[in-house]
Amino acid sequence: MPIDTTPKPTARPGPLNDQRIDAAQIRQVVGRAVQSQKILDMHTHLYPPGFGTPVANKTGRIDPTGLMLWGVDELITYHYLVAEVFRVVPATELPYETFWTWPKDRQADHIWRHLFVENTPLSEACRGILTTLTRLGLDPDEKSLSAYRFFFSRQDPSQFIDRIMEMSNVEAIVMTNAVFDDNERARWIKEPAIGSDPRFRAVLRIDPLVRNFPAAAEHLSQWGYSTGRKLTAACRGELIRFLNDWIDRQQAIYIAMSLPPEFTYPAAASDPIAQIGERILQEVILPVCRDRKLPLAMMIGSSLQTNPLLRDAGDTSGRADVSSVARLCRDFPANKFLVTMLSRENQHELCVVARKFGNLMPFGCWWFLNNPSLIDEITRMRFELLGRSFIPQHSDARVLEQLIYKWEHSREIISTVLSDMYMRTAKTGRSIYLRDVQRDVEAIFAGNFKAFLAR
Ligand SMILES: [Zn+2]
Repeated sequence: MPIDTTPKPTARPGPLNDQRIDAAQIRQVVGRAVQSQKILDMHTHLYPPGFGTPVANKTGRIDPTGLMLWGVDELITYHYLVAEVFRVVPATELPYETFWTWPKDRQADHIWRHLFVENTPLSEACRGILTTLTRLGLDPDEKSLSAYRFFFSRQDPSQFIDRIMEMSNVEAIVMTNAVFDDNERARWIKEPAIGSDPRFRAVLRIDPLVRNFPAAAEHLSQWGYSTGRKLTAACRGELIRFLNDWIDRQQAIYIAMSLPPEFTYPAAASDPIAQIGERILQEVILPVCRDRKLPLAMMIGSSLQTNPLLRDAGDTSGRADVSSVARLCRDFPANKFLVTMLSRENQHELCVVARKFGNLMPFGCWWFLNNPSLIDEITRMRFELLGRSFIPQHSDARVLEQLIYKWEHSREIISTVLSDMYMRTAKTGRSIYLRDVQRDVEAIFAGNFKAFLAR
């Protein structure tokens, strides 16, 4: 489902929009505008019901390998909280392997008891659960999860998506569709209309092509694309055909990949896998993105499996090389790059590079940066260096109801920061008008992304 990128007048014409905002009213006016603005959530890991759900629900249709995650057990076993519970009950007391043999509800009971009942929930991931439960009308003081489980088991998944989107004021959810994931890939092939839920948009995620081409090539040849381990002209043609087939199948609105802190462009001469990855980027991915007018999203800085025993929760963050991003933007001026970086230390440099390249759009406060103090810091810095020409946040939600807290918490901070910016501008003597606020708020929560796609 393509995004409607036709520009719409956001500030309704008329005398009201010319209204000058008194300095004393700025916070209130900005707060109202931010609350009522519909969000285009440009990066999540959420799925519509067509992809199946493993969660007990009113319809009775349960798919154990389904991809639509929602409900209290999924919320509580979110990998952020798995990592946190092992700080309270260390692996010397409860071995990782034992935890992983437990069914999901037992894992959730363990996390609830140790992080929420026997300890005060202070971390952002814990606070997120509490906000979410409260907004759903549930009592966050429950000692067990049974009342919550009952509530979720009575929901219809599709109707519940509508409800959550309405509560979080999200107008569209952008998925991440990993073509090298066998489970997901098989679903797209079996059910061609699977991506047609009008609330969702697809994104073609292709990490192995760049990060481990020899392994990717083996899959591709099994899938009917004659690719070898070497990037010959014929192989290049097959890779281009593969990307185009999947862009068409998914109606993808951009292509995405996650890259390690060690990623450099050009690739290190000592690393043959990185070198072939670089050629695929230069000779396959970027040309296809250019032809199809699609941005390439690069999420840089996650160090995979620092503690493999923690599984999904075992990744960390590492400082990456921003000058490589600059070189890509310079060498491929006809391409568009959406970039988010995981390390706090990379944020300033990324803003500086974005000042130099209009084809670079910094986005979001990713994962370990999705904490109030860091969102505040990063968003301020971005406004100061880039005006409003960036995308301050994406939810990265993996479990549907996370939309509620991720957006409520972020809206609050972004609203505070934006108000401070207006106050400073107002101090110079320049009036702030209602139309300024409406235009800026629409841009950062939806318009900048749409305009970048349409470019
Ligand atoms: Zn993500």
